[in-house]
Amino acid sequence: MSFPTAAIAEPPPAPPRKDPSLVLAHAAMASMLQNGLSPTPANYLIWFSYHGGSEPGLRYALDAALEGGGRIAQPRMDELHAQFFEAGHEALSLHEMSRRLEGAVSEAVTLVDGAREAATRYGGSLREASDGLSDGPEALGAVLQRLVAETREVSRRSDAAARRLTETARKTQELHAQLAEARRQATTDPLTGLANRRCLDEALRAGLEEAGTLPLALVMVDVDHFKAVNDTHGHHVGDDVLRLLAATLSQALGAGQDALAARFGGEEFCVILRGHGLQEAARTAEAIRARVGGASLLIRQGGQHTGQRLGVTVSLGLAVAEPGEAAAHLVERADAALYEAKRGGRNRLCTDPPMPKSGAVWG
Ligand code: GH3
Ligand code: MG
Ligand code: MG
Repeated sequence: MSFPTAAIAEPPPAPPRKDPSLVLAHAAMASMLQNGLSPTPANYLIWFSYHGGSEPGLRYALDAALEGGGRIAQPRMDELHAQFFEAGHEALSLHEMSRRLEGAVSEAVTLVDGAREAATRYGGSLREASDGLSDGPEALGAVLQRLVAETREVSRRSDAAARRLTETARKTQELHAQLAEARRQATTDPLTGLANRRCLDEALRAGLEEAGTLPLALVMVDVDHFKAVNDTHGHHVGDDVLRLLAATLSQALGAGQDALAARFGGEEFCVILRGHGLQEAARTAEAIRARVGGASLLIRQGGQHTGQRLGVTVSLGLAVAEPGEAAAHLVERADAALYEAKRGGRNRLCTDPPMPKSGAVWG
Protein backbone atom coordinates (compact mmCIF):
# COMPACT_ATOMS: atom_id res chain seq x y z
CA MET A 1 0.00 0.00 0.00
CA SER A 2 1.39 3.39 -0.83
CA PHE A 3 0.17 6.95 -0.57
CA PRO A 4 -0.39 8.71 -3.91
CA THR A 5 1.96 11.67 -4.26
CA ALA A 6 0.51 13.53 -7.27
CA ALA A 7 -0.63 17.07 -6.39
CA ILE A 8 -4.24 18.02 -7.01
CA ALA A 9 -4.34 20.14 -10.17
CA GLU A 10 -7.74 21.82 -9.80
CA PRO A 11 -8.22 25.25 -8.21
CA PRO A 12 -9.61 25.23 -4.67
CA PRO A 13 -13.38 24.77 -4.48
CA ALA A 14 -15.35 27.91 -5.35
CA PRO A 15 -16.14 30.02 -2.27
CA PRO A 16 -19.70 31.04 -1.37
CA ARG A 17 -20.68 33.56 -4.06
CA LYS A 18 -21.90 36.23 -1.69
CA ASP A 19 -18.56 37.25 -0.18
CA PRO A 20 -16.94 39.62 -2.71
CA SER A 21 -13.46 39.36 -1.22
CA LEU A 22 -13.56 35.58 -1.41
CA VAL A 23 -14.84 35.74 -4.97
CA LEU A 24 -11.84 37.93 -5.83
CA ALA A 25 -9.47 35.60 -3.99
CA HIS A 26 -10.83 32.65 -5.90
CA ALA A 27 -10.72 34.45 -9.26
CA ALA A 28 -7.09 35.36 -8.58
CA MET A 29 -6.18 31.72 -7.86
CA ALA A 30 -8.06 30.55 -10.96
CA SER A 31 -6.27 33.12 -13.19
CA MET A 32 -2.88 31.99 -11.93
CA LEU A 33 -3.71 28.37 -12.73
CA GLN A 34 -5.18 29.25 -16.15
CA ASN A 35 -2.00 31.06 -17.06
CA GLY A 36 0.25 28.33 -15.70
CA LEU A 37 1.73 30.73 -13.13
CA SER A 38 3.00 29.74 -9.68
CA PRO A 39 0.73 30.98 -6.88
CA THR A 40 3.29 33.43 -5.47
CA PRO A 41 2.17 36.42 -3.41
CA ALA A 42 3.28 38.79 -6.19
CA ASN A 43 1.24 36.95 -8.85
CA TYR A 44 -1.73 36.73 -6.51
CA LEU A 45 -1.55 40.46 -5.79
CA ILE A 46 -1.56 41.29 -9.51
CA TRP A 47 -4.58 39.09 -10.26
CA PHE A 48 -6.42 40.19 -7.14
CA SER A 49 -5.99 43.82 -8.29
CA TYR A 50 -7.01 42.87 -11.82
CA HIS A 51 -10.27 41.24 -10.75
CA GLY A 52 -10.93 43.96 -8.17
CA GLY A 53 -10.84 46.48 -11.02
CA SER A 54 -9.39 49.29 -8.85
CA GLU A 55 -6.28 49.57 -10.98
CA PRO A 56 -7.30 50.56 -14.51
CA GLY A 57 -3.69 50.84 -15.72
CA LEU A 58 -2.96 47.28 -14.60
CA ARG A 59 -6.17 46.00 -16.14
CA TYR A 60 -5.30 47.65 -19.43
CA ALA A 61 -1.75 46.20 -19.41
CA LEU A 62 -2.97 42.67 -18.59
CA ASP A 63 -5.77 42.73 -21.15
CA ALA A 64 -3.25 43.87 -23.77
CA ALA A 65 -0.92 41.00 -22.82
CA LEU A 66 -3.76 38.46 -22.99
CA GLU A 67 -5.19 39.71 -26.26
CA GLY A 68 -5.91 36.92 -28.74
CA GLY A 69 -6.47 34.34 -26.00
CA GLY A 70 -2.78 33.96 -25.12
CA ARG A 71 -1.25 33.32 -21.72
CA ILE A 72 0.83 35.76 -19.76
CA ALA A 73 4.39 34.67 -19.00
CA GLN A 74 6.18 35.11 -15.67
CA PRO A 75 8.69 37.72 -16.94
CA ARG A 76 5.79 40.00 -17.95
CA MET A 77 4.18 39.42 -14.53
CA ASP A 78 7.48 40.47 -12.90
CA GLU A 79 7.51 43.65 -15.00
CA LEU A 80 3.92 44.47 -14.04
CA HIS A 81 4.70 43.88 -10.39
CA ALA A 82 7.70 46.22 -10.59
CA GLN A 83 5.64 48.81 -12.46
CA PHE A 84 2.60 48.82 -10.20
CA PHE A 85 3.70 47.64 -6.77
CA GLU A 86 7.37 48.26 -6.11
CA ALA A 87 9.20 51.14 -4.44
CA GLY A 88 10.78 53.70 -6.71
CA HIS A 89 7.63 53.84 -8.78
CA GLU A 90 5.57 54.93 -5.81
CA ALA A 91 6.15 56.81 -2.59
CA LEU A 92 7.50 54.81 0.32
CA SER A 93 4.13 54.65 2.11
CA LEU A 94 2.64 53.04 -0.98
CA HIS A 95 5.47 50.56 -0.99
CA GLU A 96 4.86 49.80 2.66
CA MET A 97 1.18 49.27 1.96
CA SER A 98 1.98 46.98 -0.97
CA ARG A 99 4.31 45.05 1.32
CA ARG A 100 1.61 44.57 3.93
CA LEU A 101 -0.85 43.59 1.25
CA GLU A 102 1.59 41.00 0.00
CA GLY A 103 1.96 39.70 3.55
CA ALA A 104 -1.79 39.16 3.78
CA VAL A 105 -1.87 37.61 0.35
CA SER A 106 1.04 35.34 1.22
CA GLU A 107 -0.94 34.11 4.22
CA ALA A 108 -3.89 33.33 1.95
CA VAL A 109 -1.68 31.39 -0.45
CA THR A 110 -0.23 29.36 2.44
CA LEU A 111 -3.74 28.59 3.69
CA VAL A 112 -4.94 27.45 0.31
CA ASP A 113 -1.83 25.32 -0.10
CA GLY A 114 -2.33 23.82 3.37
CA ALA A 115 -5.97 22.99 2.64
CA ARG A 116 -4.97 21.37 -0.62
CA GLU A 117 -2.28 19.32 1.04
CA ALA A 118 -4.78 18.07 3.62
CA ALA A 119 -7.23 17.18 0.86
CA THR A 120 -4.51 15.30 -1.02
CA ARG A 121 -3.58 13.31 2.08
CA TYR A 122 -7.23 12.57 2.73
CA GLY A 123 -7.63 11.28 -0.83
CA GLY A 124 -4.63 9.03 -0.17
CA SER A 125 -6.17 7.74 3.07
CA LEU A 126 -9.44 6.88 1.33
CA ARG A 127 -7.62 4.91 -1.31
CA GLU A 128 -5.57 3.14 1.31
CA ALA A 129 -8.72 2.38 3.25
CA SER A 130 -10.50 0.90 0.26
CA ASP A 131 -7.45 -1.29 -0.38
CA GLY A 132 -7.58 -2.30 3.29
CA LEU A 133 -11.17 -3.51 2.92
CA SER A 134 -10.03 -6.46 0.84
CA ASP A 135 -7.80 -7.60 3.74
CA GLY A 136 -10.83 -9.14 5.41
CA PRO A 137 -13.56 -8.24 7.91
CA GLU A 138 -11.23 -8.16 10.91
CA ALA A 139 -9.35 -5.20 9.32
CA LEU A 140 -12.63 -3.28 8.84
CA GLY A 141 -12.83 -1.88 12.39
CA ALA A 142 -9.32 -0.44 12.23
CA VAL A 143 -9.95 1.00 8.75
CA LEU A 144 -13.18 2.66 9.84
CA GLN A 145 -11.59 4.05 12.97
CA ARG A 146 -8.83 5.53 10.93
CA LEU A 147 -11.26 7.00 8.38
CA VAL A 148 -13.28 8.67 11.11
CA ALA A 149 -10.14 10.19 12.59
CA GLU A 150 -8.93 11.39 9.18
CA THR A 151 -12.34 12.80 8.26
CA ARG A 152 -12.47 14.73 11.53
CA GLU A 153 -8.98 16.07 11.00
CA VAL A 154 -9.65 17.18 7.42
CA SER A 155 -12.94 18.76 8.37
CA ARG A 156 -11.32 20.59 11.31
CA ARG A 157 -8.49 21.83 9.14
CA SER A 158 -10.68 22.91 6.27
CA ASP A 159 -13.12 24.71 8.59
CA ALA A 160 -10.25 26.59 10.19
CA ALA A 161 -8.68 27.28 6.79
CA ALA A 162 -11.96 28.57 5.36
CA ARG A 163 -12.44 30.90 8.34
CA ARG A 164 -8.92 32.23 8.16
CA LEU A 165 -9.10 32.53 4.39
CA THR A 166 -12.27 34.61 4.67
CA GLU A 167 -10.57 36.80 7.25
CA THR A 168 -7.42 37.14 5.17
CA ALA A 169 -9.33 37.88 1.98
CA ARG A 170 -11.25 40.59 3.83
CA LYS A 171 -8.04 42.05 5.20
CA THR A 172 -6.56 41.92 1.71
CA GLN A 173 -9.50 43.79 0.27
CA GLU A 174 -9.31 46.44 2.99
CA LEU A 175 -5.60 46.96 2.38
CA HIS A 176 -6.28 47.00 -1.30
CA ALA A 177 -8.81 49.81 -0.93
CA GLN A 178 -6.30 51.77 1.16
CA LEU A 179 -3.66 51.20 -1.48
CA ALA A 180 -5.99 52.38 -4.26
CA GLU A 181 -6.78 55.54 -2.28
CA ALA A 182 -3.11 56.22 -1.55
CA ARG A 183 -2.32 55.67 -5.20
CA ARG A 184 -5.10 58.04 -6.23
CA GLN A 185 -3.66 60.68 -3.93
CA ALA A 186 -0.17 60.09 -5.27
CA THR A 187 -1.34 60.79 -8.82
CA THR A 188 -3.71 63.70 -8.15
CA ASP A 189 -2.95 67.39 -7.87
CA PRO A 190 -4.43 68.47 -4.52
CA LEU A 191 -5.36 72.02 -5.59
CA THR A 192 -7.25 71.21 -8.78
CA GLY A 193 -8.07 67.50 -8.50
CA LEU A 194 -6.59 66.92 -11.94
CA ALA A 195 -3.89 64.35 -12.64
CA ASN A 196 -0.51 65.52 -11.37
CA ARG A 197 2.85 65.67 -13.11
CA ARG A 198 3.77 62.11 -12.14
CA CYS A 199 0.56 60.77 -13.65
CA LEU A 200 1.06 62.88 -16.75
CA ASP A 201 4.61 61.55 -17.24
CA GLU A 202 3.36 57.98 -16.94
CA ALA A 203 0.45 58.52 -19.35
CA LEU A 204 2.71 60.27 -21.82
CA ARG A 205 5.23 57.45 -21.73
CA ALA A 206 2.50 54.85 -22.26
CA GLY A 207 0.83 56.91 -25.02
CA LEU A 208 4.10 57.41 -26.88
CA GLU A 209 4.78 53.67 -26.86
CA GLU A 210 1.77 53.16 -29.10
CA ALA A 211 2.08 56.46 -31.02
CA GLY A 212 3.11 54.49 -34.12
CA THR A 213 -0.42 53.09 -34.44
CA LEU A 214 -2.49 55.61 -32.48
CA PRO A 215 -1.75 59.32 -33.05
CA LEU A 216 -1.02 61.35 -29.94
CA ALA A 217 -1.05 65.09 -29.39
CA LEU A 218 0.14 67.10 -26.41
CA VAL A 219 -1.33 70.51 -25.60
CA MET A 220 0.33 72.87 -23.10
CA VAL A 221 -2.02 75.45 -21.63
CA ASP A 222 -0.66 78.49 -19.75
CA VAL A 223 -2.69 81.23 -18.06
CA ASP A 224 -1.97 84.66 -19.50
CA HIS A 225 -0.66 87.32 -17.10
CA PHE A 226 -1.41 85.13 -14.11
CA LYS A 227 1.09 86.93 -11.91
CA ALA A 228 -1.08 90.05 -12.25
CA VAL A 229 -4.11 88.08 -10.93
CA ASN A 230 -2.17 87.16 -7.79
CA ASP A 231 -0.74 90.65 -7.42
CA THR A 232 -4.11 92.39 -7.86
CA HIS A 233 -6.53 90.05 -6.09
CA GLY A 234 -4.36 87.89 -3.85
CA HIS A 235 -3.05 84.36 -4.04
CA HIS A 236 -6.34 82.76 -2.97
CA VAL A 237 -8.11 84.27 -5.99
CA GLY A 238 -5.24 82.96 -8.11
CA ASP A 239 -5.94 79.51 -6.63
CA ASP A 240 -9.66 79.86 -7.45
CA VAL A 241 -8.73 80.71 -11.04
CA LEU A 242 -6.62 77.55 -11.26
CA ARG A 243 -9.53 75.46 -9.93
CA LEU A 244 -11.95 77.05 -12.38
CA LEU A 245 -9.51 76.47 -15.20
CA ALA A 246 -9.16 72.79 -14.25
CA ALA A 247 -12.96 72.38 -14.24
CA THR A 248 -13.26 74.19 -17.58
CA LEU A 249 -10.59 71.94 -19.10
CA SER A 250 -12.42 68.83 -17.96
CA GLN A 251 -15.73 70.14 -19.32
CA ALA A 252 -14.16 71.06 -22.65
CA LEU A 253 -12.76 67.55 -23.01
CA GLY A 254 -16.03 65.86 -22.09
CA ALA A 255 -16.39 62.23 -21.09
CA GLY A 256 -16.23 60.68 -24.54
CA GLN A 257 -12.73 61.81 -25.50
CA ASP A 258 -9.66 59.70 -25.00
CA ALA A 259 -7.90 62.51 -23.21
CA LEU A 260 -6.07 63.23 -19.97
CA ALA A 261 -5.91 66.70 -18.44
CA ALA A 262 -3.15 67.29 -15.91
CA ARG A 263 -1.53 70.08 -13.98
CA PHE A 264 1.98 70.42 -15.31
CA GLY A 265 3.03 72.81 -12.54
CA GLY A 266 2.23 76.36 -11.37
CA GLU A 267 -0.28 77.89 -13.79
CA GLU A 268 0.53 75.49 -16.60
CA PHE A 269 -1.67 72.57 -17.60
CA CYS A 270 -1.29 69.79 -20.14
CA VAL A 271 -3.73 67.75 -22.15
CA ILE A 272 -2.85 64.45 -23.79
CA LEU A 273 -5.15 63.63 -26.70
CA ARG A 274 -5.05 60.06 -27.96
CA GLY A 275 -6.26 59.18 -31.42
CA HIS A 276 -6.12 62.83 -32.52
CA GLY A 277 -4.22 64.04 -35.58
CA LEU A 278 -3.24 67.68 -36.03
CA GLN A 279 -6.61 69.00 -37.26
CA GLU A 280 -8.72 67.26 -34.66
CA ALA A 281 -6.35 68.08 -31.78
CA ALA A 282 -6.24 71.74 -32.86
CA ARG A 283 -10.04 71.84 -32.86
CA THR A 284 -10.13 70.51 -29.30
CA ALA A 285 -7.39 72.93 -28.17
CA GLU A 286 -9.26 75.82 -29.74
CA ALA A 287 -12.45 74.73 -27.96
CA ILE A 288 -10.51 74.86 -24.67
CA ARG A 289 -9.22 78.36 -25.46
CA ALA A 290 -12.69 79.64 -26.32
CA ARG A 291 -14.32 78.06 -23.28
CA VAL A 292 -11.76 79.50 -20.86
CA GLY A 293 -12.08 82.92 -22.50
CA GLY A 294 -15.85 82.77 -22.07
CA ALA A 295 -15.81 81.75 -18.40
CA SER A 296 -15.49 84.10 -15.45
CA LEU A 297 -14.91 83.77 -11.75
CA LEU A 298 -16.89 85.45 -8.99
CA ILE A 299 -14.22 87.03 -6.84
CA ARG A 300 -14.23 86.13 -3.15
CA GLN A 301 -12.64 88.26 -0.47
CA GLY A 302 -12.63 87.10 3.14
CA GLY A 303 -14.93 84.20 2.22
CA GLN A 304 -17.58 86.57 0.76
CA HIS A 305 -18.43 87.05 -2.89
CA THR A 306 -17.71 90.62 -3.93
CA GLY A 307 -19.99 90.56 -6.97
CA GLN A 308 -16.95 91.35 -9.07
CA ARG A 309 -16.11 88.96 -11.89
CA LEU A 310 -12.73 88.03 -13.24
CA GLY A 311 -11.98 86.49 -16.61
CA VAL A 312 -8.69 85.04 -17.78
CA THR A 313 -7.35 83.88 -21.11
CA VAL A 314 -4.93 81.09 -21.92
CA SER A 315 -2.26 80.54 -24.53
CA LEU A 316 -1.80 77.06 -25.94
CA GLY A 317 1.00 75.14 -27.64
CA LEU A 318 0.20 71.89 -29.42
CA ALA A 319 2.61 69.28 -30.75
CA VAL A 320 1.70 66.06 -32.53
CA ALA A 321 3.98 63.15 -31.58
CA GLU A 322 6.32 61.72 -34.17
CA PRO A 323 6.93 57.96 -34.23
CA GLY A 324 9.61 57.01 -31.71
CA GLU A 325 9.71 60.48 -30.15
CA ALA A 326 10.81 60.79 -26.51
CA ALA A 327 8.41 62.37 -24.02
CA ALA A 328 10.86 65.14 -23.13
CA HIS A 329 11.20 66.10 -26.79
CA LEU A 330 7.45 66.22 -27.35
CA VAL A 331 7.06 68.42 -24.26
CA GLU A 332 9.82 70.70 -25.55
CA ARG A 333 8.05 71.12 -28.89
CA ALA A 334 4.67 71.83 -27.27
CA ASP A 335 6.40 74.33 -24.97
CA ALA A 336 8.07 76.04 -27.94
CA ALA A 337 4.67 76.32 -29.66
CA LEU A 338 3.26 77.81 -26.42
CA TYR A 339 6.08 80.34 -26.33
CA GLU A 340 5.25 81.30 -29.90
CA ALA A 341 1.59 81.83 -28.88
CA LYS A 342 2.73 84.11 -26.04
CA ARG A 343 5.00 86.08 -28.35
CA GLY A 344 2.22 86.33 -30.92
CA GLY A 345 0.00 88.22 -28.46
CA ARG A 346 -1.43 85.52 -26.06
CA ASN A 347 -5.00 84.11 -26.00
CA ARG A 348 -4.13 81.96 -29.00
CA LEU A 349 -3.02 78.52 -30.14
CA CYS A 350 0.18 77.67 -32.03
CA THR A 351 0.94 74.19 -33.31
CA ASP A 352 3.91 72.06 -34.28
CA PRO A 353 3.71 71.24 -37.12
CA PRO A 354 2.08 74.56 -38.05
CA MET A 355 -1.50 74.43 -39.34
CA PRO A 356 -1.72 74.76 -43.14
CA LYS A 357 -2.48 78.41 -43.95
CA SER A 358 -5.16 77.91 -46.59
CA GLY A 359 -8.47 76.48 -45.50
CA ALA A 360 -7.44 76.15 -41.86
CA VAL A 361 -10.70 76.18 -39.99
CA TRP A 362 -10.82 75.33 -36.28
CA GLY A 363 -14.43 74.81 -35.62
P1 GH3 B 1 2.51 84.88 -19.08
O1 GH3 B 1 1.31 85.46 -19.74
O2 GH3 B 1 3.76 85.19 -19.80
O3 GH3 B 1 2.37 83.42 -18.82
O4 GH3 B 1 2.64 85.62 -17.68
P2 GH3 B 1 2.35 85.04 -16.23
O5 GH3 B 1 2.23 86.19 -15.27
O6 GH3 B 1 1.19 84.11 -16.30
O7 GH3 B 1 3.62 84.14 -15.97
P3 GH3 B 1 4.72 84.19 -14.86
O8 GH3 B 1 5.55 82.96 -15.11
O9 GH3 B 1 5.43 85.51 -14.83
O10 GH3 B 1 3.94 84.03 -13.50
C1 GH3 B 1 3.32 82.87 -13.13
C2 GH3 B 1 2.80 83.07 -11.74
O11 GH3 B 1 2.03 81.94 -11.32
C3 GH3 B 1 3.87 83.24 -10.71
C4 GH3 B 1 3.45 82.37 -9.54
O12 GH3 B 1 3.43 83.08 -8.34
C5 GH3 B 1 2.05 81.95 -9.91
N1 GH3 B 1 1.70 80.64 -9.40
C6 GH3 B 1 2.33 79.47 -9.62
N2 GH3 B 1 1.71 78.47 -8.97
C7 GH3 B 1 0.66 79.03 -8.32
C8 GH3 B 1 -0.37 78.51 -7.46
O13 GH3 B 1 -0.46 77.32 -7.18
N3 GH3 B 1 -1.29 79.39 -6.99
C9 GH3 B 1 -1.23 80.74 -7.29
N4 GH3 B 1 -2.17 81.51 -6.80
N5 GH3 B 1 -0.27 81.23 -8.06
C10 GH3 B 1 0.66 80.42 -8.58
MG1 MG C 1 3.90 79.80 -17.03
MG1 MG D 1 1.31 82.30 -17.46
